[in-house]
Formats: sequence, structure tokens, C-alpha cells
Amino acid sequence: MCGMCGGSIEDTNHLFIHCKVAFMVRSKCAQWWRFLSVQLETCQDDFEQHRPPVKDCFVRAGWDVVWFSIVWSLWLARNAKIFRNQEQETDRIFELVRLRAFNWIKGRTTCYSFTFHDWMLEPVLCLKDKRGTR
Ligand SMILES: [Zn+2]
Repeated sequence: MCGMCGGSIEDTNHLFIHCKVAFMVRSKCAQWWRFLSVQLETCQDDFEQHRPPVKDCFVRAGWDVVWFSIVWSLWLARNAKIFRNQEQETDRIFELVRLRAFNWIKGRTTCYSFTFHDWMLEPVLCLKDKRGTR
């Protein structure tokens, strides 16, 4: 059974897409990004949805990082619940998604000038230009 909700068989697509915990975290991310939340069927579809049709390596890598941050944060929350019996609130998982993605993006480049505050308020803008040109 799923380590997060206990309501379904745990497989990759359930854990990262269909689980109610994943759904709530993804919904919070969609609100943060001001996107419509689209429920996809597989992790592969979800990953491909996060890849914008642009050639700029920074922008593409940034969107990849966001996807990895969501999946990694859900995985760590699942493990905390299963192995340490630590319930993870969806708000906390969501905040860790934002923090991890920002730290990974900032760590990828020496000239990234956006602050975490910028990232919290305007994540799409923060992925368009790593120098912070507005
Ligand atoms: Zn579940």
C-alpha cells in the first residue's frame, strides 16, 4: 500500500501523480506558478509537461530542477513517514519543494541574482533570465 496515503497500491505513478498527498503538493505548486493544474496519467507525461519548448539551457534546466524538486520532496516525505513515522504536512512538503528548487537553481550558476523572496513571488520570471534582468 502507498506509504503516503495508505489508500492504493504504491507504484511510481501513484506516488508522484495520483496520491492525494502528491495531488495537494502539485496543486500548491500550480497556484504558486499561476498555472492551471493538469492531472496527468504518468510520471513521463508529467516530466515532459515541465519541459518548455525553448532552446535556452538555463530555462530548460530550471524547469527540470522544479520537477526533480517535486519528486524528490515527495520521495523524502514518503520515506520519513514509512521509516521514521514522521507525518509530513503538505504545506511543509510544498515549502521544501520551493526551497530545494531555488537552492539547486542558484547552485547551478554563479551569476544568478534573484533572491529567495523573488523566487517565492515570481518563479516564472526567475527562470526566464538568470541575471535578474527585469
Ligand atoms: Zn498514496
